Amino acid sequence: MGKAGEITQALANAVKSFGGEIRTESEVKSIKVESQIAKGVILANGEEILANQILSSADPKHTLLKLVGAQDLPPEFVWHTQSIKMRGSVAKIHLQTNGSHGIPEGTVVVAPSIKYLERAYDAAKYGEISEKPYLEVTTAGNVVSIHFQSAPYALKKSNWQVEGSKVEKLAIDTLAEYFPNLKSSIVNRKLISPLDLEQTYGLTEGDLNHGQLMLDQFLFMRPLPGWSNHKTPIDNLYLCGSGVHGGGGVSGAAGRNAAKSLK
Ligand SMILES: Cc1cc2nc3c(=O)[nH]c(=O)nc-3n(C[C@H](O)[C@H](O)[C@H](O)COP(=O)(O)OP(=O)(O)OC[C@H]3O[C@@H](n4cnc5c(N)ncnc54)[C@H](O)[C@@H]3O)c2cc1C
Repeated sequence: MGKAGEITQALANAVKSFGGEIRTESEVKSIKVESQIAKGVILANGEEILANQILSSADPKHTLLKLVGAQDLPPEFVWHTQSIKMRGSVAKIHLQTNGSHGIPEGTVVVAPSIKYLERAYDAAKYGEISEKPYLEVTTAGNVVSIHFQSAPYALKKSNWQVEGSKVEKLAIDTLAEYFPNLKSSIVNRKLISPLDLEQTYGLTEGDLNHGQLMLDQFLFMRPLPGWSNHKTPIDNLYLCGSGVHGGGGVSGAAGRNAAKSLK
């Protein structure tokens, strides 16, 4: 297990040592709200779990607009939440190879110059996939994992059903320019598009940071101006994930801040 796995395992053990129970594969369909007070969650299988305090690490748009719903929120707050900029633009390609890919173990980055990076990003601004992408490649034995930028969630002239194979090909072709043995070594491949990140992992618009990290969505303006204290207009409902102050990234800061702001 890698270092990230060890951290999550340590966190899980800590929860269990305090008598907590962890459930996976348990989709929350909605948060139960009565008179603007959160009372519990309702799972996709219909089970209701009541609680005095509810913390959500799903992104703020997902939590507030989908799980709570506009009907239980002040109209102006809904409008501001709808305006949080997400704009995911990362795809992931996992390659299973026979091991003779020729890429060194560890991480390799394809970013030959600042101009190259700028052009790779430019494409996303116009709703297009970078023809010359920035790649971050992690290799572990036979598996090669490629982080592909930029591949915007909102494609201007096409859709992800059509463009998925193009992204796979672009990633492989670009990497094969540096590692010619790669193509013949591939046994299997799997693409995770920004749309997959939304549909499978609940990340609105496939945004891995739960809200773009830009000046007007930072610090005291994260997720919204006036709401950086992890609270929401719903009593007993707190936000603790990447989309709130302390996030994004895997720092744990947003969760720690949220825990400290509990009643
Ligand atoms: C391809 C990629 C590359 C990245 N690279 C880096 C990096 O190099 N460095 C870095 O610091 N960060 C990186 N990140 C970002 C990092 O993964 C996130 O910032 C971090 O995972 C956020 O943690 P979180 O716990 O706040 O949210 P998440 O990890 O998104 O966890 C939220 C959880 O809530 C679950 N969920 C959502 N909706 C529901 C629901 N309705 N019911 C039940 N469960 C639900 C999701 O399934 C998920 O497990 C990357 C992310 C991606 C996708």
